[in-house]
Amino acid sequence: MRSPKKLIAGNWKMNGSLEFNSTLMHSLLGGDLHANACDVAVCAPSVYLAQIHALLLSAGSSPIHLGAQDISAHEKGAYTGEISVSMLKDFGVAYAIVGHSERRQFHHESDQLVAIKAERALSAGITPIVCVGETQQERGVGLTEVIVKRQLAAVIHLVGHCITEIVVAYEPVWAIGTGLTATPEQAQSVHAVLRAQLRAAAGDGAQKIRILYGGSMNAANAKSLLSQPDIDGGLIGGAALKAADFLAIVASA
Ligand code: PEP
Repeated sequence: MRSPKKLIAGNWKMNGSLEFNSTLMHSLLGGDLHANACDVAVCAPSVYLAQIHALLLSAGSSPIHLGAQDISAHEKGAYTGEISVSMLKDFGVAYAIVGHSERRQFHHESDQLVAIKAERALSAGITPIVCVGETQQERGVGLTEVIVKRQLAAVIHLVGHCITEIVVAYEPVWAIGTGLTATPEQAQSVHAVLRAQLRAAAGDGAQKIRILYGGSMNAANAKSLLSQPDIDGGLIGGAALKAADFLAIVASA
């Protein structure tokens, strides 16, 4: 019987301000985070990680973990504008999203680059949240499985020896920020494919790898998605910017 602790991670994307973040974090910290029932993370824009880190420290023992939205594939040096994993560690970052579809689409990140980023995160003790997902057009021509398996295979190829340390997020591109959500059955069937692929790489260890669903998850649909056998949490975009909605999703988990 699988029972990994669920993870609810908010992806704030390029949103927020010092004032907005402070208000949101105080609402989250003052809300019911169901400590210990599930893990909670907020992935903030990198310039605000120091702010959120300080807020979490001043809150004392908070169940909220800090996450980054991307990392550099390089260790350090002449890579203008990039942020290394050791810099993120300085601010208590525990999770890093890698391979979000917006980075694959707008920054042309390849499967190989995403895999290198996952490896880089693991080398620093940061848990990569590896995003995979198909576009509407790919789903339309029956390529969903092929696409998500290809994306995950690149990561397994590079970090197969410690694959149980990653988190996977299935995020159908057509459901991100669109209000369209995969039905629980659609999501579960892709999660089952990913689980089988992880099992082939890690044996029984695959049981403990968390596979999150992301794509217009909200307070109303979270429960039915999170009750699927292979859905171990959520990666939440828009709803993570509203404390009441995010707390309701945490409560569903
Ligand atoms: C995301 O960006 O990872 C995401 C799931 O966004 P949304 O919840 O807004 O669809």
